[in-house]
Amino acid sequence: MSEISVAGDASGTAAPATALVVLRRVNKHFGALHVLQDIDLTIARGEVVVVIGPSGSGKSTLCRTINRLETIDSGTITIDGRPLPQEGRELARLRADVGMVFQSFNLFAHKTVLDNVTLGQIKVRKADRRAAEQKAHALLDRVGVGAQAAKYPAQLSGGQQQRVAIARALAMDPKVMLFDEPTSALDPEMINEVLEVMQQLAREGMTMVVVTHEMGFARSAANRVVFMADGRIVEEARPDRFFSNPRSDRAKDFLSKIL
Ligand code: ADP
Ligand code: MG
Repeated sequence: MSEISVAGDASGTAAPATALVVLRRVNKHFGALHVLQDIDLTIARGEVVVVIGPSGSGKSTLCRTINRLETIDSGTITIDGRPLPQEGRELARLRADVGMVFQSFNLFAHKTVLDNVTLGQIKVRKADRRAAEQKAHALLDRVGVGAQAAKYPAQLSGGQQQRVAIARALAMDPKVMLFDEPTSALDPEMINEVLEVMQQLAREGMTMVVVTHEMGFARSAANRVVFMADGRIVEEARPDRFFSNPRSDRAKDFLSKIL
């Protein structure tokens, strides 16, 4: 795919001043499988990018490379102008800057909701406990689970757990939030309560990369839809254009199956 259409990125060489996450010719293999192929993607500050595509197309791997849960074989990834660190304290800080919310919640099961949201603040951001707890309570209120602070994750519904996971990521003051199918493991009646929190974040200007099959969310919250297939970005466009007039056969085929 050629350069994308973020304002100011027309040259295709220097990233625009507003670029927050920049991937250039990123390649990744799992053995013989070429899972990411020459991925070029620039995400502007405050932009909401929804990534869609068939199962196995590399969406999760793409997210995981951005906070270095996966290494890449070639290409570059920069966050806020800095290349991804390789290890150590710098890597922990990078992970805090890049909040990630997974399909499977991934809360610490043996810690209370409150502790889940204070732990990273104290360990990585070096906040003192009182400040961390104050912030945690405010964030838990904001995502609508303030009353659950003393409970353990297993005592919460899936929708509540996922909102705690979002609060935990936000507690680190991330520069960008990655969501990898955050509602796919939820019972249907809980999907909206999570999507609403994400909508709110988007409205507040959070930079977000969201892998989802929730096309309603994509239409209403995304600035851009990125369609992946077989490890490549096949097509990207504003959601209204993408959904009304997909250009590639792969995207047409995909949309015909899910809409
Ligand atoms: P998506 O999220 O779009 O469904 P993934 O990024 O999870 O796709 O996976 C892309 C491809 O890479 C799939 O074929 C998957 O089986 C493979 N894959 C993912 N993770 C690994 C891994 N750790 N080792 C080997 N293959 C993997
Ligand atoms: Mg996936």
